[in-house]
Amino acid sequence: MELAVLGSGSAFADTGHQAGYVVDRKLLLDCGAPAPLLLSRMGIDLAEIETVVISHLHSDHVGQLPMLLVARAVTRPEAPPLLVLGPRDLADHLRRLGELSLGAQFWNSFYSQHTPILREVAEGRIEELGSHRLEFIEVEHVPQLHCLAIRVETQEVSLGYSGDTTLCPGIRRLAGSVDHLLCECTGWSKPAPIHLWKEEVELLMREFPRTSFLLTHLSERKPVGGALLAFDGLRLRLTRPPAD
Ligand SMILES: [Zn+2]
Repeated sequence: MELAVLGSGSAFADTGHQAGYVVDRKLLLDCGAPAPLLLSRMGIDLAEIETVVISHLHSDHVGQLPMLLVARAVTRPEAPPLLVLGPRDLADHLRRLGELSLGAQFWNSFYSQHTPILREVAEGRIEELGSHRLEFIEVEHVPQLHCLAIRVETQEVSLGYSGDTTLCPGIRRLAGSVDHLLCECTGWSKPAPIHLWKEEVELLMREFPRTSFLLTHLSERKPVGGALLAFDGLRLRLTRPPAD
């Protein structure tokens, strides 16, 4: 499995673009970063992206989705419709985002001609997408939003993506069930009320020593023993760690 990081920064920090991660050139996890430009910089064609998965409806995770849909339709008219998976209320949120950012008349005309395949998913939902099996796990981030973590598995390896979360049962379930965890670490010097902070991430690392941690959604960039820090433009080849 190949992971490409488009954006590793948290919402208000200067550490990197906002959330965007590409699995095997075709699965985009979150769309807070200006994906068309950043995909191009990483040598991935916009037409290669088949599925977009949105973890939750905060702007740093979904804000660029209207632009991605329009850019792909306009510049890659031969590409098949995108599959867009995300939390409850995604369809209505996307309509409001599109109308606000591009104008209601343009957006609604565009959307009627280039409607993506959009599915709102919830805890336990499984999506089989070719060689990738996706599972959705609910996590606790802010009470007013339905927030998802995502598990991606192939025959060779499994990757978890935390989305945004607090230290809740969902993130523990995910951390214990994957080879690699792309895990948010927003707070560094003190607890972050609606996010994980460094000491909670270190606790998860001790609880799940067989899982390798790649930290992202960073507000600072300091060493964390035993974990890798994501950065914009990072490419990783993920393999299953050898059994003991
Ligand atoms: Zn959030």
